[in-house]
Amino acid sequence: MIFCIEDEDSIRDLMIYTLNGAGFEAKGFADGGELFEALQQEKPRLIMLDIMLPGEDGISILKKLRAREDTAGIPVMMATAKGTEYDKVMGLDLGADDYLVKPFGMMEMVSRIRAVLRRTEAGHKNEAKLLCVGGLELNPETYTVFVNGERVQLTLKEHKLLRIFMENPKRVFTRDQLLEIVWGIEYAGETRTVDVHIATLRTKLGQCGGYIETVRGVGYRMGGEL
Ligand code: CA
Repeated sequence: MIFCIEDEDSIRDLMIYTLNGAGFEAKGFADGGELFEALQQEKPRLIMLDIMLPGEDGISILKKLRAREDTAGIPVMMATAKGTEYDKVMGLDLGADDYLVKPFGMMEMVSRIRAVLRRTEAGHKNEAKLLCVGGLELNPETYTVFVNGERVQLTLKEHKLLRIFMENPKRVFTRDQLLEIVWGIEYAGETRTVDVHIATLRTKLGQCGGYIETVRGVGYRMGGEL
């Protein structure tokens, strides 16, 4: 999850759209108030922070983030305008992890975010690794799936479903187990929900769709070329 704090709606929307397309989950906020409210619920992997904001500016927000124990470790990428604002920011050692100078390209933003994440998360032990089965590749970190090198767009539920199978090759899961793992125990749905999602997932996976095998009378498992 990436948080984007930017008061211009069109830029914020574009950032989120681009990040989603690059496989990141992202949420946008128009000011510091909204950001700090959201941080009570969830801690993102990275915060994109504009400096010029209505009310509290990005510099003050960054200082607060760094001062709080629960947010001090979250990487922050600052967005600054050219000129005096940029000079001022560079003059102050604010402890941001990186800076982007406005106007910046969306692809540049994504690659700089990836670089910061690689650097800051490199030491983390819980780093999820790439899962591969035959021509199928799933990256649990970026939520991307490739079938024979071609990117496939999955919904979050489909992604979770596929990940469970790929993490446990050959293991048979009952529909009830899948409902519990993917939808959560509080979900009062029917096991038919699982069948519908499996069918869609198989279609989306094309040539690799057959890897998800039906085990008659029991459930499903990941087969394929292991
Ligand atoms: Ca702004």
